[in-house]
Amino acid sequence: MVLVVGMARSGVAAAKLLQSRGFSVFVTDAGSPKEAAAELDAAGIPYETGHHTRLMFLDAEEIVVSPGVPLDIEPLAAARASRVPIIAEVELAFRYLKGKIVAITGSNGKTTTTTLTGEILKAAGRDVQVGGNIGVAMTGLVAGSTPETINVVEVSSFQLDGIRTFRPDVGVLMNITPDHLDRYASFEAYCASKFRLFENQGPDDTSVLNRDDAKVFPPPVPVSSRQLLFSQKSVVERGAYRSGNDIVLNGIRVMGVDEVRVPGAHNIENVLAAMTVASCYGVEPSGIAETVRRFRGVEHRIELCGSIRGVDLYNDSKATNVDSAIKAIEAFDRAIILIMGGKDKGASYAPLVDAMKGRVKHVLLIGAAAQKISSAIGTGFPKTFVATMREAVEEGLERSAAGDVVLLSPACASFDMFDNYEHRGRVFKAEVKRISERHG
Ligand code: ADP
Repeated sequence: MVLVVGMARSGVAAAKLLQSRGFSVFVTDAGSPKEAAAELDAAGIPYETGHHTRLMFLDAEEIVVSPGVPLDIEPLAAARASRVPIIAEVELAFRYLKGKIVAITGSNGKTTTTTLTGEILKAAGRDVQVGGNIGVAMTGLVAGSTPETINVVEVSSFQLDGIRTFRPDVGVLMNITPDHLDRYASFEAYCASKFRLFENQGPDDTSVLNRDDAKVFPPPVPVSSRQLLFSQKSVVERGAYRSGNDIVLNGIRVMGVDEVRVPGAHNIENVLAAMTVASCYGVEPSGIAETVRRFRGVEHRIELCGSIRGVDLYNDSKATNVDSAIKAIEAFDRAIILIMGGKDKGASYAPLVDAMKGRVKHVLLIGAAAQKISSAIGTGFPKTFVATMREAVEEGLERSAAGDVVLLSPACASFDMFDNYEHRGRVFKAEVKRISERHG
């Protein structure tokens, strides 16, 4: 029997793949995921919820772990001690997926870059599937893959912790900044897990690295694949860079920075990474430029969701760590009323202060981490504690003048008050909509 631990999207997809390949499967989840239970019932796959039966772990021929499940929970430690093989869901997918794999990881920018890369390749007529950490889990892509498919997948460090042979044809590392320190022993351990993306690559494979991030380049471990770089600061011969208003790919000017519609310098980074990948598959520069010009970003990432009395309201609920919130703040050259807070993940909030100076005119603090953030940012910014998202939006508008921006960019996880960041973003947008309608 193969045991699947965790019954969210990737656990269900892994169980279904195993079943389709003739394995006897059992799924276990310590929580009570209702939707997944219905899906497994329909597929006739047995499972347990509310607890883990330890014996199942010890009896399994192999254990597939979903990314949401920490690898050090007791029954997994017991199975490891008994030499039961334990793998991540992406490792399982890798055994069966046909075609090429482009795997994108990093602390921030994964979803945006994965989405844009997929769109550029699709527009160029390639047979593309997009998934992994976003949309369809990687095991869920197996059924639709053919030898011609380019599978563009977003991979998290949690997934990389459980790989053995996983070997992307193109591996992209966007950046590494402190995140998930509640699940890693140290920042170094988190960095090491990101570099596992390249550990099985050979000279026929490609690594795409951020030249501007000292944690990424030069790589702290040997990487045997062909190296391409992207940079906003230096000229790179192979890969993409920005020089003034020019975006240059493999020595050829592709487009102007001012043609990119998604806001912020961090999004230029995402564009540079995506076009570097596209160049690996022979996409013409003109085709790349056309898709980038059309790209409006992904929901919950600095998403303009309303304008009330000349104040623009942006939903950046996906800013679940400090660096992503800094990038959002830096994306604006207007005064910002900033809504932040949520579930703390162990990183320091102090780096926010520099980005906030001269930009943020009022801070609205919400959720479990509100007090901790308040202490970290000190007394230099006017601030107000709010209890609900409704209060946050109303207070944000109250404190703003025409031309300002109200920005939800929490720098925290959402699980203190919401199901996930999407839920938090939807609640924010619903409040914006409610008030917009009231204002006619
Ligand atoms: P991920 O999938 O890695 O979480 P997203 O593309 O979903 O990345 O973006 C997450 C958050 O990080 C968003 O709030 C966005 O504004 C910010 N962000 C996007 N790209 C970058 C980047 N290259 N560097 C830093 N922050 C980024």
